[in-house]
Amino acid sequence: MPSFDMIALGCGGGPSEHNLSSYLLKPCDAHWSEGILALEAGSGIGALDKLLREQPTLFESDQIQLNHGESSLCTAMEVYSWIRCFLVSHAHLDHISGLAFTASTVGGRRTVFGLRRCLEIVESLLSGQLWPRLASWNADDDLPLTLQDLTGRSRLANDAKYHSVFPGVSVRTMPLSHGRVDEQRTYHSSAFFVSDDSSGREFLFFGDVEPDSVATEPHNRNVWRAAASKIPNTLDTVFIECSYPSGRTDDMLYGHLTPEHLVAELTALAAEVVDARTRTRQPNSSQEWDSDQEPVHTRKRRRRETAGSSSRGALAGLKVYVIHCKDDLQGVYAEPIHRVIASQVRTLVEEKDFGVEIISVEQGMKILILYRIQRRSAEQFGP
Ligand SMILES: [Zn+2]
Ligand SMILES: [Zn+2]
Repeated sequence: MPSFDMIALGCGGGPSEHNLSSYLLKPCDAHWSEGILALEAGSGIGALDKLLREQPTLFESDQIQLNHGESSLCTAMEVYSWIRCFLVSHAHLDHISGLAFTASTVGGRRTVFGLRRCLEIVESLLSGQLWPRLASWNADDDLPLTLQDLTGRSRLANDAKYHSVFPGVSVRTMPLSHGRVDEQRTYHSSAFFVSDDSSGREFLFFGDVEPDSVATEPHNRNVWRAAASKIPNTLDTVFIECSYPSGRTDDMLYGHLTPEHLVAELTALAAEVVDARTRTRQPNSSQEWDSDQEPVHTRKRRRRETAGSSSRGALAGLKVYVIHCKDDLQGVYAEPIHRVIASQVRTLVEEKDFGVEIISVEQGMKILILYRIQRRSAEQFGP
């Protein structure tokens, strides 16, 4: 019964520096001290120290037994030292600042995985000018961080697009649009399909992302298409940002989502799920078949044929964890902003009747992603 444990070390979208994107992950059947995969590297030691003061037993399976038999709780430094590798979606500071501030302080060497253009920015940040030189593409260099490009890499024979990043864990990386560098160029982020090798079960994690309807270079539909045939049996958990509350205009998105846009994206996912299920019911179809390789005209024709199909209940069994909500510094809302935004998404999506569950992520939340026979579910425990 393989599964993942995740702790949201930081889940906000800034500007508060104590709660920036940082998620600690491990296989459920291992101890935290046996190795952690960090998804994003925003908040680091400071946030961890604060969390451990509030929740001293957060990593309780790893209490250290002292010689005289008493137990001592883990320190932030110890927990951070268990991180073996980082997986970073893009190189904005709220997703990588932990690399700079902590990499040289905690001993040992770690791998940073990501798309090449993201890691090139990390390399330039940690090159000895803005910050000491800490990162290199060459593992033989004696530096704390080794950069590893996930672009076009393959290690698993059964799916050339997945890359092993951690014992028993592989990742497929897909590019996303996240606003613009300038008038000509799109700024890229990434989505990760994080897979348990032994079971083939996975979850989907989005870095910062803008709506396809706004992007000059839309990529989200490709991600939804890749996920659709797996929902809910082998993929029932999605982490995705919703940085702003309802009412923000498109010219003020800066590469992010609002509840309205997130629901439009989930509507696109529901359509892809209906499409994938229609396809698997057709004669000569195969679940092994790679939908990414399907000719566009075939896909469009089938979509016309299934245009009247209802997407009611299409996302039943799917849990969507809302992350990266930007702080409400003006105090406009009585409730914490992440709950306000998740509630707005929930209200809008309930009208669609997709059957999807919307969950607000809070800092310090422990998320248990369970795989059960026939059915998988994720459960969460509040901080
Ligand atoms: Zn961000
Ligand atoms: Zn960003």
